[in-house]
Amino acid sequence: MSEQYVYYFGTDKAEGRAEMKELLGGKGANLAEMTNLGIPVPPGFTISTGVCSLYYRSDRTYPDEVRKQVAENLDRLEKEMGKKLGNREDPLLVSVRSGAAISMPGMMDTVLNLGLNSSAVEGIAKNTGNTRFAWDAYRRFIQMYGDVVMGVPHEAFENALNAIKREKGVGADTELNADDLKKVVDSYMSVYERTVDKEFPQDPIEQLWGAIDAVFGSWNNDRALKYRSINKIGDLLGTAVNVQSMVYGNWSDTSGTGVCFSRDPSTGENYFYGEYLMNAQGEDVVAGIRTPEPLSSLESANPEVYKQLVDIKERLEGHYRDMQDMEFTIQEGRLFLLQTRNGKRTGRAAVKVAVDLVNEGMIGRNDAISRITAEQLDQLLHPMISPKAKKNLEPIARGLEASPGAAVGKVVFNAEEAELWASRGEKVVLVRRETSPEDIGGMNVAEGILTSTGGMTSHAAVVARGMGKPCVAGCKDVVIDESTKTFSIGGKIYREGDFITLDGSDGEVYAGTIELEKPSLSGELNELLSWADEIRHKAKRVGIEDGFMVRTNADLPQDARLAVDFGAEGIGLTRTEHMFFEEAKLTSFRSMIIADSLQERVDALKPILKLQIEDFRGIFRVMDGKPVTIRLLDPPLHEFVPHSETEVRELAKELGANVEKLLKRVMELKELNPMLGHRGCRLGITYPEIYDMQVEAIMTAAVAEARMGIDVRPEIMIPLIGSTAELEVLRTNAQKVINRVMDGVDVGIDYLIGTMIEIPRAALTADLIAPHADFYSFGTNDLTQMTFGFSRDDVGTFVPEYIEKKILKFDPFQTLDASGVGQLVEMGVRKGRNVKPTLKAGICGEHGGDPSSIAFCYKAGLNYVSCSPYRVPIARLAAAQAVLNR
Ligand code: ADP
Ligand code: MG
Ligand code: MG
Repeated sequence: MSEQYVYYFGTDKAEGRAEMKELLGGKGANLAEMTNLGIPVPPGFTISTGVCSLYYRSDRTYPDEVRKQVAENLDRLEKEMGKKLGNREDPLLVSVRSGAAISMPGMMDTVLNLGLNSSAVEGIAKNTGNTRFAWDAYRRFIQMYGDVVMGVPHEAFENALNAIKREKGVGADTELNADDLKKVVDSYMSVYERTVDKEFPQDPIEQLWGAIDAVFGSWNNDRALKYRSINKIGDLLGTAVNVQSMVYGNWSDTSGTGVCFSRDPSTGENYFYGEYLMNAQGEDVVAGIRTPEPLSSLESANPEVYKQLVDIKERLEGHYRDMQDMEFTIQEGRLFLLQTRNGKRTGRAAVKVAVDLVNEGMIGRNDAISRITAEQLDQLLHPMISPKAKKNLEPIARGLEASPGAAVGKVVFNAEEAELWASRGEKVVLVRRETSPEDIGGMNVAEGILTSTGGMTSHAAVVARGMGKPCVAGCKDVVIDESTKTFSIGGKIYREGDFITLDGSDGEVYAGTIELEKPSLSGELNELLSWADEIRHKAKRVGIEDGFMVRTNADLPQDARLAVDFGAEGIGLTRTEHMFFEEAKLTSFRSMIIADSLQERVDALKPILKLQIEDFRGIFRVMDGKPVTIRLLDPPLHEFVPHSETEVRELAKELGANVEKLLKRVMELKELNPMLGHRGCRLGITYPEIYDMQVEAIMTAAVAEARMGIDVRPEIMIPLIGSTAELEVLRTNAQKVINRVMDGVDVGIDYLIGTMIEIPRAALTADLIAPHADFYSFGTNDLTQMTFGFSRDDVGTFVPEYIEKKILKFDPFQTLDASGVGQLVEMGVRKGRNVKPTLKAGICGEHGGDPSSIAFCYKAGLNYVSCSPYRVPIARLAAAQAVLNR
């Protein structure tokens, strides 16, 4: 037997099922499923997605077998309906609809009323007793066929229609009678012939194959390609084609068409939400030609049909166990369903619906956890414009949704202004062509960032996401003129100081201020995440603790606080150098850097010791009872001194140092490859007094807080270890300082000394290092950099192109490269635990907040992941999903 390419669905029985989405597309599979459920669906058949891929592989032609099966199924449809395509007496009309496995609303094409020609239109007129209806259907068909199949511009038809309306002196289409519509058809025919240079096809079979070609062809139109690339949809066979008998919402005043959702797709409320239009067909509802009625008024207008619809909605939701998005048509008071699918929804609705469905007993907690995506959760973790407010707003421009959340502020055009205005207590939005590292300060104080060039991985986008700051990037309509401190959009001018509002979740830009909603883990979201925690905490782990934990990367007490509120269970990385950049410490530290003798250096470090003790105390207090990993100084000293001669001269004055000497010292500190140079533990080896000071600060702070009754759990982390001896020396040094601090102290501190595994050699020799480490923390940023040999700071110049050319599937600094870098992580854990079975292991690179990297970490046996405070809820969810998918 030959392969089945075409699947029939009839009045009460279908060959397909909901599970066959890959093959029948979502629309086709669900039409089949509804048919089998006994829900009224107009009969038809689905040409499989496999045919789409055959069509493209065989140079836009079909195997004979496909043509044969289409003919057979058309025959069966005509028999079942008792009508024939193109028949003069009682013609069958069909729609030809697209539908891929993953829904891409509005991206591909559909043709309605196919089968009409000059004789069928008479048949319809006679049969319905409604001549006007027949000619209206015909003109719609010519327009749609012309547009979708032959590419006749929409306006050409619009103009022809308007001319006739003007002639008759009417405004609405509904005011045209049958004779007027006949004229419209004539006029459309000439538009068609003029543009296509061929007559409008009268043979319904020719029409049918034209439409099938167009639907398959629309799989690769620009819109669809773009949609798939934005939504990262790959590896699909193609679209299916559904040929379905028509029902007519435009038959009469007791007919109509609508769309509805079983729950509100923007809030998730359990409220039957929808819109409909009487005496209208298909796309009229979404096209916005007439204003549709809310579904609630159908209840009074036609209680019978409304009740049926409610009943079907409930059955479908119960059957699919998810919120449904449905299309329906009423023909002469009879209800038909034309589509159902799991409805697209906002993050907020996703969470509410999932939690409600659990509480209604429709799905289990694990299902709820699995259904929410990181992107949906992300939407909820930033201030946002309420979906209600959004409905009444018109954006002035649209760019890329580079970093989610909304921001309101006054326009400023450079980082210095941003900082200046912010210091006066003003809220600003930084508007630039593109940002660069010098703008960090301004970005940091801005509410949000808007750039006119650059993509999703541009500096602005990447930094904004890291800061958890809203960003709209690459907004091409925004034309910036820095000289006049203005920007314009389509000729309209916006000045420095004008308020604008950005929505980084969808890339929209609005004029003026819009009130925002603050994020919080309230209600349903908290409930959902607590279920996720339960799943994670039950996960069995090797090492010293059970459960797959989520920690945060936080350098300041307020960041730690935020993270704890978001559910962080510890700190996986405190970068002590961030504390050094504060003015007071920076001056002392710079004196230390230029000092000549050990004693001078020790003296210069003393004021920093005091300040670091305060920093650590603040963090320990917030993290009461939770582990706090503190990394000793990591960056090269060169990063702490100014680079230009004028700046060095100024600094010399400030420090009371000799200019020549300082210039010489700055030169000495310069390195060709600072990231591979004198940094991390290498500084600890050559300047032991720096690490000694930091360890002293950590332990002194711990003792002070422990005395106040705080449960402190410091974990001292030594960065950039490449050989065992480095760790041996540094651990001994640290131990000496600890012994000194703890000498005679009456409180005990549970501390650990561990290392980062971020140099490939450390992973390779993890068994040799383990005896000297209480824990391993994988620094996957450096580990990725060194494994690929990609400079993290320069990847912007080629990685985007690598991804475009499919040399890389994704940016390895965003998603852990499981097959390469991942081997080193797995090896590090395995070798380490071979020697020390209780070795605790975690990850503190950026990857700790990335869902697929989290899944990898779970498989690799890590005890925890650590990520920025704003990613903590996402990591809690993703960690639970990793445990469930095991
Ligand atoms: P999309 O995927 O863009 O929603 P559809 O294939 O669902 O496209 O069709 C577009 C519109 O035409 C929808 O409103 C749909 O309900 C309507 N439609 C499609 N097929 C039929 C049919 N056989 N009878 C009546 N209306 C139809
Ligand atoms: Mg549809
Ligand atoms: Mg590192």
